[in-house]
Amino acid sequence: MNIHEYQAKALLTKYGVAVPRGGVAYTVKEAEEAAQELGGPVWVVKSQIHAGGRGAGRFKGNEKGKGGVRVVTSVAEVRENANEMLSAVLVTKQTGPQGKEVKRLFIEEGCDIARELYLGMLVDRATSRITIMASTEGGMDIEEVAASSPGKIVTVTIDPATGFMPHHGRNVAFALELEGEQVRSAVKLLGGLYRAFTDLDASLVEINPLVVTGAGEVIALDAKMNFDDNALFRHTEIADLRDEDEEDPAELEAARHELNYIKLDGNIGCMVNGAGLAMATMDIIKLHGGEPANFLDVGGGATKERVTKAFKIILSDPHVEGILVNIFGGIMRCDVIAEGVVAAAREVSLQVPLVVRLEGTNVELGKKILSESGLPILSADDLGDAAETVVRAVKEAS
Ligand code: GDP
Ligand code: MN
Repeated sequence: MNIHEYQAKALLTKYGVAVPRGGVAYTVKEAEEAAQELGGPVWVVKSQIHAGGRGAGRFKGNEKGKGGVRVVTSVAEVRENANEMLSAVLVTKQTGPQGKEVKRLFIEEGCDIARELYLGMLVDRATSRITIMASTEGGMDIEEVAASSPGKIVTVTIDPATGFMPHHGRNVAFALELEGEQVRSAVKLLGGLYRAFTDLDASLVEINPLVVTGAGEVIALDAKMNFDDNALFRHTEIADLRDEDEEDPAELEAARHELNYIKLDGNIGCMVNGAGLAMATMDIIKLHGGEPANFLDVGGGATKERVTKAFKIILSDPHVEGILVNIFGGIMRCDVIAEGVVAAAREVSLQVPLVVRLEGTNVELGKKILSESGLPILSADDLGDAAETVVRAVKEAS
């Protein structure tokens, strides 16, 4: 799960991470009040959306205008910019061309930036350890730095048996070319980040940029935090930060029905039981020249109700031109699944080609139910056959 910058900063503050003062605003009036409370003389008006690249982003309909992060020098300007940004759609490198509507702003005190650095903390899957990534090239895309000058990224791996130690912090601080008191500030900040990361079951914390101010302070000017969804049950205060406006409506609906659904860009909808089989199904669709429209794991209990819900969610994506159902009846019986598929196809009055591949207990009975349903369901014998059939059916239909 993702949260907004202002929420991440509030959490990190509790762990002793230095951030600029600021206030959230949902309206122009609140923006003005926040600005007055901060006092100036410099303010930054920051769009709060779940995507990075806001500074370099542009608002729809005003592509020649300013970006989603603006430095201003009067309360009147805070008001004007808040007015321009709220309800406008911000397009950044990370939002995709459709952009995201700005519904919240963060009004911060301005900061005198001497240097912009990069700091990231994530779980490295190769070592299964929390790893700090640091670079002197802050403020820009870390992916770009990784591609053009990988030598400028330093990684420090933390052994869970010791946890974060001051020497980890000093290594990072020296790599960032910090000096004197800055080293101490950075070590403290990193220790706080690590405690926040482990206490809150984060999966990623990114501070880009981490800045050194003109006065030599080290502070987090931006903050992004991701959390492990599977640990949210023990962090209700984090779960409460969820902003459903920022999430894909189909994915939210799926989560409500305990379906694992992730929307993709292709045109072949997939309904599969088991994450591994779902991955294999997506692979084989691609192998036969098709593009999956989604990942969907209906889980173990593929009842009629869940199958119907899954069909509706798949079909809510206007790009879907065909559906492949690939279900292994192990604990579930194929005849029960077939009945579910038939009932669901009827209920949603399916208009696109449907290919069903069943395997497992009572498979013959299941196939009989499909063929006697009178519905134009294409039955397939194995995974390769199923993928080929659905790719062909979609081509013929279009
Ligand atoms: P992002 O573009 O979504 O990553 O948003 P950031 O919070 O990183 O802001 C983008 C850029 O705006 C930063 O890299 C800074 O260069 C600039 N910026 C943000 N806050 C301030 C500030 O207080 N003063 C100045 N001068 N620049 C700022
Ligand atoms: Mn940033």
